[in-house]
Amino acid sequence: MTSITGDLQRIKDDFSEQLRGADSSEELQTVKVAFLGKKSALTSLLKRLGSLPADERPAAGEAVNSLRDSIEAAILEKKAAIEEEESAADELKNLVDVTLPARGRGWGGIHPVAQLTQDVVEILAGIGFSVALGPEIEDDFHNFEALNIPASHPARDMQDTFYFPDGHLLRTHTSPVQVRAMLKHGAPIRIVCPGKVYRRDSDPTHSPMFHQLEGLLVEKDISVADMKGCLEVLMEGIFSRPLKSRYRASYFPFTEPSLELDIECVECSGRNPSCRICKGTGWLEVAGMGMVHPNVLRNGGIDPAVYNGFAWGLGLDRIAMLKYRLTDLRVLFEGNVPYLLSGRV
Ligand SMILES: [Zn+2]
Repeated sequence: MTSITGDLQRIKDDFSEQLRGADSSEELQTVKVAFLGKKSALTSLLKRLGSLPADERPAAGEAVNSLRDSIEAAILEKKAAIEEEESAADELKNLVDVTLPARGRGWGGIHPVAQLTQDVVEILAGIGFSVALGPEIEDDFHNFEALNIPASHPARDMQDTFYFPDGHLLRTHTSPVQVRAMLKHGAPIRIVCPGKVYRRDSDPTHSPMFHQLEGLLVEKDISVADMKGCLEVLMEGIFSRPLKSRYRASYFPFTEPSLELDIECVECSGRNPSCRICKGTGWLEVAGMGMVHPNVLRNGGIDPAVYNGFAWGLGLDRIAMLKYRLTDLRVLFEGNVPYLLSGRV
C-alpha cells in the first residue's frame, strides 16, 4: 500500500456519491470537471507522485491511472444512460396517445342563403338563364333613373337609401344589374342576378343588408303566361314540390303591368288557422314581378316595339327562412353556425 491509498479511496467515494446524484447531462458535466479537470483532486495527486519515494511511485501511478480510467468509464456509462432517458422523455412529450378520445372537429356548412342561391341559379340554368352580376356601389342612373324611378319617387328618399357624399349609393335592389346587362348584351336576354342590396332598415324582420335575386327575360312576343310559367318552375324547384300560387295586381315603376306572387303556405298549406308562418291566411308573399316597362327597355338600349319581356325579384333571405324553417331573419347574418345547421330541415 502506498501513502496515497487513503486519498484515492476518498476520491472514489466522493465520486460515487456525486455520480449517483447527477440526473442530467449538465449535472454529469459538472461532476466530470470536478473529478477529471485540471483542478481536480486526482490531478493534484498525479502532481504529487514525483515527491513519493521511488519504490512507491510505480504502484501509486498505476493506482491513480486506474482510478482515473474507472472514473472516465463510469461517466461514459452514466452519460449514455442519461441521454437515453432524456430522449425517451422527449419522445414521450411528442407521443400521440391514440387511446384518448378525439377532440372533435367543427364541420362547416354552406350558408342557407348561399345554398338557396346555388339552387335557384341551377333551376333557372335549366331553362336558359345565365348569371349576371353587378357592382354594389351604384350611381343614380342605374339604380333609379334607368328603371323608370322618377326623382320624386319615395324609393329615392334619404330614409331608404345609403348615399355616399359624391352622390353614389349602395344599390337598393339588384335591378341595376338588369340595366347594365341590357346595355351590354342587348336582346334577346335571359339573366338571373343574385346579390346583396342595402336599405336603411334594421329590425327583427329587416336587415340593412339583405339578399335579392332578380330575373330578366326579354325576347319577342313574351306574355304574362310565360312569366307565370317561369315563376312556377322556379317555386316548384325551390320547394321541391308543386305549390298552389296566386297573383295580385301591384305597382312597381319598372314593370307594367305589375304583379305579386303568393304561394300556398309551405308550413300548413292553408289548413292551420293559427299557423305562425302565414298567420292563418294560407298564403305567403314571395315575389314581385311584371312585364318590363317600355321605358326601362329603352333605357337599356332595347327597342320596345320589337322586344318585350318580364322581370321578377325575390328576397332570398325570406325564401331561405321559409325553405329551412328559420324563425328569425337575423340568424342569417349572425354567423352562428350550430344554429344555422340545426335550424335546417
Ligand atoms: Zn301556414
